[in-house]
Amino acid sequence: MLIGAHGLVFTGSFEEAGLRRAIEGTKQAGFDLIEIPLMDASSFDSDLAARMLRDNDLAVTASLGLTSATDLTSEDAAVVASGVAMLERCLDHVATMGGDVLCGVIYSAMGKYMSPATPKGIENSQRAISDLAAKAAARGIRLSLEVVNRYESNAFNTGRGALGFLDGVAGDVSVHLDTYHMNIEESDFFQPVHDVAAAGKLGYVHIGDSHRGYLGTGTVDFATFFRALHDVDYDGPVVFESFSSAVVSAELSNTLGIWRNLWQDSDDLAAHANRFIRDAMHAVESIDRH
Ligand code: MN
Repeated sequence: MLIGAHGLVFTGSFEEAGLRRAIEGTKQAGFDLIEIPLMDASSFDSDLAARMLRDNDLAVTASLGLTSATDLTSEDAAVVASGVAMLERCLDHVATMGGDVLCGVIYSAMGKYMSPATPKGIENSQRAISDLAAKAAARGIRLSLEVVNRYESNAFNTGRGALGFLDGVAGDVSVHLDTYHMNIEESDFFQPVHDVAAAGKLGYVHIGDSHRGYLGTGTVDFATFFRALHDVDYDGPVVFESFSSAVVSAELSNTLGIWRNLWQDSDDLAAHANRFIRDAMHAVESIDRH
């Protein structure tokens, strides 16, 4: 199991200086892996990132939230095509960096919709994701669809909803669960992990507290969630995600509504999260003796 941190814990921009800050900070905090948000895939330098990752001996994944201009659930074929082109570019970046996962809200726009998803829109997304999954698989990359709350997508908002969506998708595409979103939408932190894992679809995990600040200071039931991960023998990436107005990404911070300053010191936050996650996973292993 690789324990990682989201790049936005350290920086809001991913040109050379920002990349260095994020990669070195992630390594310094004790993580195995960094998740790099590809919000600006057209200007991202994945060759440079690959060199820095090698220098720091860090594994990598990448994530993305589509926009209204690249929304795969659009009924406009040109918009869907833009989304596919964007995601293909992201697959190139992941391959160049040596990563094997592209995750996040890659099946719809990330943001508040003012109406439900349409059947045609869902079909468009399922078809596009199926095609992309085949292209990803050819390069050793797996797509993982992040389940987010109702204010960030209308395609599905629960683990079971994601499984329903995947019923219409061909290929090896997994579900990406996030405790921050589960806290808003799911009935508890145990059953969704079991439901998704029983379908063989649990591929990626985000660890975030209810306010996206320091782990353990909000209302997320981490004890139950980590027990569930252990129960299903989850072995994929576990990535810490936290946002504060102390670190600003013009695109992502505004989309996610990061208006408050929940922490100031990225390094302290990250080191704490690394310990928190490793301690929790260590503790639940002892349950086998109970
Ligand atoms: Mn997340």
